[in-house]
Amino acid sequence: MPIATTNPFTGETVKTFHADTDALIEEKLQKADRAFRAFRRTSFAERARLMSRAAGLLEERKEALGQLMTLEMGKLRKAGIGEIEKCAGGCRYYVENAERHLLPQTVQTDAKRSGKRFQPLGPVLAVMPWNFPFWQVFRFAAPALMAGNVGLLKHASNVPQCALAIEAIFRDAGFPDGVFQTLLVGSDKVKRIVEDPRLAAATLTGSDGAGRSLASIAGAQLKKVVLELGGSDPFVVLPSCDLDKAVEVAIAARIQNAGQSCIAAKRFIVHQQIADDFESRFVKGMAALEVGDPQDDKTQVGPLASEQVVQDIEKQVRRVRDEGGRIACGGERLQRPGFFFAPTVILNAEGTAVWKEETFGPVAAVARAKDLGHAIALANDTQFGLGATAFTQEPAEQERLIAELDAGQVFINGMVKSDARLPFGGVKQSGFGRELSEEGIREFTNVKTFWIG
Ligand code: NAP
Repeated sequence: MPIATTNPFTGETVKTFHADTDALIEEKLQKADRAFRAFRRTSFAERARLMSRAAGLLEERKEALGQLMTLEMGKLRKAGIGEIEKCAGGCRYYVENAERHLLPQTVQTDAKRSGKRFQPLGPVLAVMPWNFPFWQVFRFAAPALMAGNVGLLKHASNVPQCALAIEAIFRDAGFPDGVFQTLLVGSDKVKRIVEDPRLAAATLTGSDGAGRSLASIAGAQLKKVVLELGGSDPFVVLPSCDLDKAVEVAIAARIQNAGQSCIAAKRFIVHQQIADDFESRFVKGMAALEVGDPQDDKTQVGPLASEQVVQDIEKQVRRVRDEGGRIACGGERLQRPGFFFAPTVILNAEGTAVWKEETFGPVAAVARAKDLGHAIALANDTQFGLGATAFTQEPAEQERLIAELDAGQVFINGMVKSDARLPFGGVKQSGFGRELSEEGIREFTNVKTFWIG
């Protein structure tokens, strides 16, 4: 895949980049290794001072950084600014909490004194996706750097300007040379970097295929990995819910980021008692969405990030017609320049391609459930286990859903979202390990036991 900026609104490639040469990759690895030796000894106070500056720079530059995302992957203007503000918030969360999360602990044993300490691992490679080009990187980098690690970013090939802007934030904030570097490389270089003895660990946010590849390379090297992979999140709607709210959130949860979010709700499972009502309102709402220019604040659904994403979703929707699904609205690419797909609802979708596979676009799959048990079975009928949403006012139903949904996070009466205060991650084919909160910052640490006799 070429490293280039292609504007999804027009389809035009506006800038191309040369990939880092092997000599430059070697130079960056050396720098990372050197930087780690010194950075691991810095105090939390010093790291917090630098990370606060990074947060401040993000806020100062939020308009321009948001524009970069609109240019490179079609994000709505306002959503871009919101994403940068979220990154600043993530940095500040770890400024305030990193030391507390990594406080040495004393444990009573047969020793005079024993316990645990949390020490950084070293240079960590982050392989990142284009859909939240800043947030995905910052939710890795803020905790990893606050723990004393150093970062190497291999971003998706279609967001090179975002990748370079992130490196500039850390540099301008005053982080020492080599503490955070961007590598402009294709995925074919990941193996060589992970195999390098100076690299301590790796993380990948992306598709399950890319995750499998990184996990096998890192596995052969016995290196730690954290994987944040795809999802096919269920959205369960039960009779006791506030239906107006459920429909409103269902639409927002499906079309966020033009449907290109790992935690977008993708499969809607509706109790048969309210199914007619939910389906007609949901279809009406999806069909009425304003699709268009991501710079225009009236737009609700912008372009998809690339021609490939449009073609992938087109293929899935085409298969649905033969598999018994009923297309209630949309169903096609929009005939205009750029990478647009119409907001689409597929009824009777159980078992079709859009049910079994992750859909990365504004395409909703709907199925009916006979009762709560059936709804949970349908929700869990997927290889993925990232997020899950359910709408119900019944406390007993809420408890059962939290207990029985196979997912890394269950949200009741609200949309699944990441929050620096809460751990984020998946089960099943959605990956392993956690980001954010206390669990996230500990992933790239050596939990070192000490025992003094
Ligand atoms: P992708 O194609 O898997 O790419 C993600 C990153 O992995 C890119 O940097 C890509 O580089 C690299 N990559 C691709 N194949 C690789 C391989 N064989 N070995 C090593 N690296 C490889 O995913 P995407 O299309 O950018 O993003 C969409 C996917 O990410 C969806 O499945 C979505 O659900 C998932 N996602 C998950 C989370 C989460 O937190 N769980 C969050 C966001 C997105 P190139 O661009 O150079 O190919």
